[in-house]
Amino acid sequence: MKLTKRILLVYIVSILAFFTACGEEEKIISLQKERAELIAKKDSLTKRKNELENSNQLLLISDTVKAGDGLFQVLSRMKVSESDRRALVLAIQDSVELSKMRVGQMFHVLLNQDGSVQTFRFAENPATIHLLFKSDSGYIYHRPDKKLTRKHSIFEGSLAQGSTLDGMLRSVGIPGRMVGVVSGVLQCKVAFQLAQPSDKFRILLEEAFFEDSVWIEGKVLFAEFDGKTVGHHEAFLYEDPDPKSSYNAHYTESGEALVFDGLRYPLDRLHVTSAYGSRIHPITGKRTVHHGIDYGSPKGTPVYAVAEGVVTVSGYDNLSGNKISIRHRDGSSSWYLHLHTRAVAKGAHVNTRQVIGRVGNTGRSTGPHLHFGFKDEKGRWMNPSKKTMIATPKLEGERLSRLKSQAKAIRESLTTTAAVTPQKVGDSEILVRSRTIQ
Ligand SMILES: [Zn+2]
Repeated sequence: MKLTKRILLVYIVSILAFFTACGEEEKIISLQKERAELIAKKDSLTKRKNELENSNQLLLISDTVKAGDGLFQVLSRMKVSESDRRALVLAIQDSVELSKMRVGQMFHVLLNQDGSVQTFRFAENPATIHLLFKSDSGYIYHRPDKKLTRKHSIFEGSLAQGSTLDGMLRSVGIPGRMVGVVSGVLQCKVAFQLAQPSDKFRILLEEAFFEDSVWIEGKVLFAEFDGKTVGHHEAFLYEDPDPKSSYNAHYTESGEALVFDGLRYPLDRLHVTSAYGSRIHPITGKRTVHHGIDYGSPKGTPVYAVAEGVVTVSGYDNLSGNKISIRHRDGSSSWYLHLHTRAVAKGAHVNTRQVIGRVGNTGRSTGPHLHFGFKDEKGRWMNPSKKTMIATPKLEGERLSRLKSQAKAIRESLTTTAAVTPQKVGDSEILVRSRTIQ
């Protein structure tokens, strides 16, 4: 009996020993597994760390458009090299109306370690993003597709007592820029000071919205005013196949341009230091003809385009220093010399009052000033102060027949009625009819 007990005890101890040994082995296996996992994790973390370190070598710089900025200024502020600035402007200028850059719009550039631009991003608005990527053959332009909803809206009413057309259109929520277009176009024909209460008006707008509610852009397709004393006048938007054509404007149905484009001044403050004509040259001492007007102005003062046009010269020479010339619609050209910096490249389209450069003292010059010159349509220098208007074109031939068919489509759109929502303005009301066209 005692023996049996002992045998049983040995048996139990050896079974226990077996199980204990077995548990140890399992522990070792699981520890080894854990170690392998940790090594794998460490390797993947090291890999990620290297990736992050490499991506840290790309530098992201963001900036916003400030008053008077051109793309060139923004890019120089972002420390982009001059050759990259030129390449970027060249790659993007056909796709973006750089002259319409607005304060607050955002730019991002991703710089390589050597300071060259790898990626460039410009958000014109939430739906219009412009991207440029560096490739072996220069920068490649890409614009991601965002779907927009387009609407035609008709605003129809009559002038309320004591109201102006401007005021009434603003009060129903039409953006100020478009209200300005309506009155600018109509005032070529309508003497608004003679307008009377209950004179009738009708406006057709085409507007684009992102995600149905964010206003992206709009254009005035048609404006009409019918007054007891000022008469009945209509303005149609002509849209050329070339969106950059200077013919894109409002016309009467017979093709008469409704554009008031007087020549503006190239600077905000006008301090003439040398007038146009014969003078003793300050440096050579010889009597010469001064083919322009000199305006004394501190270095860095913004210089504006005096009228809309295309940049035909943007360069440097020893006499004129940094110079820019803009060819205007009627063939005349304006010239801006001795600039400190130039903000527009040859071939760019510029609008009236757009900043094209800064006052400087480059070339043969005795101090910071702007030499402003003007050539007539035959290329002869003329006194800039004698040029007051850029002649507006009348549509002819193919363009006139295109205008007629566009006017026909506009008239059709005017008769297509949708929901009518009258909005009260003073003692009058405006009927609003809207429909989605796309
Ligand atoms: Zn001069």
